[in-house]
Amino acid sequence: MNDMPRFQGKADTLKEGLFLPSGVDGIYARTGLYEGVVESLAALISSERPAGAEVLRFPPVMSRAQIERHGYLKSFPNLLGCVSCLTGDERHIRGVVQRFEEGADWTSELGAADLVLAPAACYPVYPLAAARGAVPAEGLTFDVAADCFRREPSTDIDRFQSFRMREYVRIGSPEQIHAFREAWIGRAKSLADRLGLGYRIDLASDPFFGRGGAIVAASQIEQALKFELLIPVRSEAEPTACMSFNYHQDHFGLTWDLRTGDGGPAHTGCVAFGMDRLAVAMFATHGLDTDAWPAGVRKALKL
Ligand code: ATP
Ligand code: ZN
Ligand code: MG
Repeated sequence: MNDMPRFQGKADTLKEGLFLPSGVDGIYARTGLYEGVVESLAALISSERPAGAEVLRFPPVMSRAQIERHGYLKSFPNLLGCVSCLTGDERHIRGVVQRFEEGADWTSELGAADLVLAPAACYPVYPLAAARGAVPAEGLTFDVAADCFRREPSTDIDRFQSFRMREYVRIGSPEQIHAFREAWIGRAKSLADRLGLGYRIDLASDPFFGRGGAIVAASQIEQALKFELLIPVRSEAEPTACMSFNYHQDHFGLTWDLRTGDGGPAHTGCVAFGMDRLAVAMFATHGLDTDAWPAGVRKALKL
């Protein structure tokens, strides 16, 4: 296959060294060099796993009904990917395939399945926790991960349509969530220090859909619900969010009837690690030759 588009431009030396193109923006085959660093970063993050955290790994797809109930369609309908399949009897399906073979469109026959592509790693955890009854006084902590999808095609080195997200999730009282988030902002800084990454922590908002979305985003900033750890990857002026620290208040508690011992809705928060962005940030900062990375960084990553 030599009709694949070649990466062009400057940051693209990095892209060429780490990925192979697929023909679709933001979708790449990952090289062993790159994947080795992703694995080392995952191990480093695991070494900081909060005591008592329950480990769950989710598939890249999740229940469509759950994501609908979460309100995702109100907030980010433009980013969601829904699994769609051919259904019907053999005759019907063969007829559709026949259309494709004749060069006609076959995709109009696809019907939405009961699955969406997971847009973040933590969504499936709240209904699971709610099904277990009241949240214990000490709260709950989870370690989750999933391959995530967001429909935001880009040729930028730090924005993929399919990427890995790791999260530590905390469920409990507002005080427990605040303490967790504060502690993790501190821990994240020291992780970035050990990795030799430049960064700053800043307030942030999610890109809520549409005109009404701007208002929701402004109130998110005002209430300091989201912080990000930003690392210069493409440029110093527009650093890249590689981790986020989120406080959902009682949103998921109310959505899933997830309650604390006193009967009130549980509060929730999460710290999300963008594994692919962190890995790209490592190569952008230290170069493509991992043997030449600073000794302290190699030690932190056990390279
Ligand atoms: P951005 O503002 O850059 O789009 P975000 O606010 O949408 O980021 P979150 O929803 O907080 O990101 O997701 C958690 C983490 O997942 C981010 O901090 C980032 O590291 C990673 N992430 C989000 N979107 C992408 C993407 N398209 N490609 C790679 N990593 C991503
Ligand atoms: Zn989350
Ligand atoms: Mg985004």
